[in-house]
Amino acid sequence: MERDNEQKNSLVRREKGELIGKQNLVSHSVIRNMIREAFESLKYAYTPYSNFRVGAALLTASQKIYTGCNIENAAYGPTNCAERTAFFKAISEGESDFKAIAVVGGKNGAVSDYCPPCGVCRQVIREFVDPYKFLVILAKSEDDYRMFFLEELLPLSFGPEYV
Ligand SMILES: [Zn+2]
Repeated sequence: MERDNEQKNSLVRREKGELIGKQNLVSHSVIRNMIREAFESLKYAYTPYSNFRVGAALLTASQKIYTGCNIENAAYGPTNCAERTAFFKAISEGESDFKAIAVVGGKNGAVSDYCPPCGVCRQVIREFVDPYKFLVILAKSEDDYRMFFLEELLPLSFGPEYV
């Protein structure tokens, strides 16, 4: 399992002539902590309508972790995802430098597959990070996870530098 993860996650990308290894951006022990926190947060998901529960853990450059869960609403539209909850918590407390986010989720809180962020969350994340360096970690457990640069999940993205 460990070896599988290393292979899947050993991708590097060339950015301004420099090779960046995903594995070098965040240590495995920090990733495990993030995934544990994401699972903790999933317990607080408010999902009376879909029962699809999601937890997220956002890592700042100073190694602080902000958690988030999805919060549904009877009017559906105001529903907020776990990833955005974590980001909005962090932004509202003055954070501005982010390294990675771990996401776990599943029907009734049973995590049997990777739970990728929705398109809205990908765009919200894009607002606050370098898409070539920020990692999205999709986990089934502390040892079974996949890592993506945001740029892989949201290619050719539109961000603040365009406005
Ligand atoms: Zn979302």
